[in-house]
Amino acid sequence: MFKNVKILLFMVFLSNLSCVGMKSVDVQRDFVEGWLDFENSYSTMIPQTIVSATIENFLKNGDGEKDKKVLLIGYDGVRTDALANTSLVAVPYLVAQEHSGIYHTFVGGIKGNLQKTYSAPGWTTILTGQWADKHKVVHNFVLSKSDETPSFLARAKALFPEFIIASLVHWAPLNDNVLRNEKDIIDIMYNSKDDKDLFENTRSAILEKNADVIFSVFLETDKMGHKYGFSPFIPEYTQKITEVDKYAFDLIKSVESRENYANEDWLIILTTDHGGNKFTHGGQTQQERNTWLVVNQKKYLYFEQ
Ligand SMILES: [Zn+2]
Repeated sequence: MFKNVKILLFMVFLSNLSCVGMKSVDVQRDFVEGWLDFENSYSTMIPQTIVSATIENFLKNGDGEKDKKVLLIGYDGVRTDALANTSLVAVPYLVAQEHSGIYHTFVGGIKGNLQKTYSAPGWTTILTGQWADKHKVVHNFVLSKSDETPSFLARAKALFPEFIIASLVHWAPLNDNVLRNEKDIIDIMYNSKDDKDLFENTRSAILEKNADVIFSVFLETDKMGHKYGFSPFIPEYTQKITEVDKYAFDLIKSVESRENYANEDWLIILTTDHGGNKFTHGGQTQQERNTWLVVNQKKYLYFEQ
């Protein structure tokens, strides 16, 4: 039923190579190669459309014995090489698990169908599994994504109407604009005042509100990149990555501390929406396009081009 992922990876490799030159990856490659155990390389990066398809695959085909649950934690604007040059707990904790994987991914579209490496287009691609030609979020100031491209939150609700669906974000336009056409089906929609507040409310969604599918996106990493520079050499930026990753670790531990955890099957994904180049992002350099993805159950990875 599912296409061979390796063949698709090769197709992505070809399309990615042809739209972006390979010259500008030097810093990133030096840092990242040999760090952690990536399942693929820069030359076989996977499109971020895979996230949404993977979640749907898990919900449709996952273990039927246990309660299926999903936690996606977003680290806004975290370059792969900065992740590699940073003290982390959540990422290595998940990567060390038996069935997990860490992958090089990309945003910004494919040849002939490029999109800005901004937050709204990027997160909308992660939510819907489509590029901006379909989801219509071509920049940060649209009022809503297309009605034709439901998010994985909406698709989860359609599959399991009893599910409690949560979208918690620090950057309000994701809830207020991108997901506004799904307000009626998202049970918990929360805009946080800062990342600490986001952490506390996500923990509450996990432990007290028993949410089944959770989309939770931290923002202060991106803010530090804009203020001090997106670079593995900028301590203000990398320290904030450490902080957000610690929040993610505590959220994973909250999942594991649930009373019913033994009867639950959690798909946990950590990812980002774009990288950055100097003080900004939006363009098509490798530093802006390269992203990363950690998944605790890699057998569910799936996408269709
Ligand atoms: Zn962003």
